[in-house]
Amino acid sequence: MKRTINIPIFVSHQGCPNDCVFCNQKRITGIRNEETEEQIRQKIERFLSTCRTSGAEKEIAYFGGSFTGIEEEKQLMYLRIAQAYIQRGEVKGIRVSTRPDYMDQKICERLYRNHVTTIELGVQSADDEVLRMNRRGMKASAVETAVAYIRKYPFSLGLQMMTGMLGSDEEKDLFTAQELIRLKPDFVRIYPTVVLRDTALYDLYLQGKYVPMELEDSVRLSAELLELFESAGIPVIRLGLMAGEEVHEKEVAGPYHSAYRELVESYRICRTVEHALDGKQTMGKELEIVCAPSMVSKVIGNRRKNVLLWQEKYGVRVHIVQDREEQNFRIRLL
Ligand code: SF4
Repeated sequence: MKRTINIPIFVSHQGCPNDCVFCNQKRITGIRNEETEEQIRQKIERFLSTCRTSGAEKEIAYFGGSFTGIEEEKQLMYLRIAQAYIQRGEVKGIRVSTRPDYMDQKICERLYRNHVTTIELGVQSADDEVLRMNRRGMKASAVETAVAYIRKYPFSLGLQMMTGMLGSDEEKDLFTAQELIRLKPDFVRIYPTVVLRDTALYDLYLQGKYVPMELEDSVRLSAELLELFESAGIPVIRLGLMAGEEVHEKEVAGPYHSAYRELVESYRICRTVEHALDGKQTMGKELEIVCAPSMVSKVIGNRRKNVLLWQEKYGVRVHIVQDREEQNFRIRLL
């Protein structure tokens, strides 16, 4: 898949009729000022003038709400803004994210005619009971219907899932991942559920009716999901919530970490090394790990977690060697 850079524009879904327990849109609405047409243009131009990455395609990405659920006039306004940049070849197209039940033939046609190139669907869970408990206001079957409409066009399709939702468990989250794989998306995003202030989930959390996943358990589950998607040849383009002011301010509980993906990748390295060492005579030996410079922190682990574990569990002395030629990492017991 060719690398795509998003020019992110936040679109709030004012008047969203849904009431998902984890969502704070209703509170944001009225506080966060919507960007005007002019402000959006300025943002795009600022981005284009400072973006130096060559070889990557750019998309104007309308994130944050259910794009196809906002009033048609406003959707058309957002789509219109992008057209000049597309015609000049400065951006490839437009990316929108929306709910599966807000897609039909007419909507697909409108998006296609206006040069939308990527559609992301917020699936969140493939379990109807989990969707009901989280007041998603839709059934899992809506995803299949939406995907069938989308696949009649040459859109790139992204599916988003959440882990650790109210009423879910690891088995259900793994089932959701399998369902996503069955639908053959071009990419996925995985968001562990965190409890944000001013949400129904926050109230349930305070009442002890919702217990978020521990960071460690969430990382372990995410590593398993990552493995599943990678084995199916589906890139996971995001793992964990975006680090941003909003999350820092409002996040109150749950498996949030500003470098969540790094934690997951580091955990996978740890497991791979453990598998390689299990059953071997390791006591007192030197464990040499050769890796690319960009991987050193993942190999070492957050607060040297991996190194400490290997030392303690296998009695090895860990020696890390950086090698620019190395794409991944390799280990030797000396
Ligand atoms: S997450 Fe749910 S409540 Fe929030 S904007 Fe999307 S559909 Fe509406």
